[in-house]
Amino acid sequence: MTASGTNIAYVGLGANLGDASATVRAAAHELAIAPGVSGLVLSPLYRSAPVDAGGPDYINAVVCIHTTLDPNDLLRALQAIEHQHGRLRPYQNAPRTLDLDILLFGAAQIDTPGLTIPHPRMHERAFVLRPLQDLAPDLILAQGALPQLLAQCAGQSINPE
Ligand code: AMP
Repeated sequence: MTASGTNIAYVGLGANLGDASATVRAAAHELAIAPGVSGLVLSPLYRSAPVDAGGPDYINAVVCIHTTLDPNDLLRALQAIEHQHGRLRPYQNAPRTLDLDILLFGAAQIDTPGLTIPHPRMHERAFVLRPLQDLAPDLILAQGALPQLLAQCAGQSINPE
């Protein structure tokens, strides 16, 4: 946390129903203007094949934000944005209009029933690592540096949108 009580957080965005690119861009804008959030930077958008799920390709991106919210309040803000986009959860890994995940929140390590930070699967997903690398190329996760982790995801299809 900085002296001003602000944290830097990274949020993953994904959508694979309807106009997924427009949904991801709209969600990023809604987060940018949410109370307690400032300085949002949106990565380039990528197209990826679903992992452990069916349905159309996903559009994915990552945003970096500065936030005065605590992690649970940020999660609630993200869930409100998901809800605005009509997210339904009929079954696990179902196609979704919009999925927002907190990837990193400062140096926080949180493991509660409702919230795990760093996101437990981010280090093995090219659709997270690739846009994250665009925003923070020198970032090092507990599992390794981003280029090294991306090399381990070489089989995952991901292309610029
Ligand atoms: P999903 O269906 O994959 O979007 O999972 C949503 C659920 O994951 C929510 O009920 C959250 O409470 C929980 N969750 C745990 N850790 C996180 C995280 N880092 N970011 C977003 N949701 C999380």
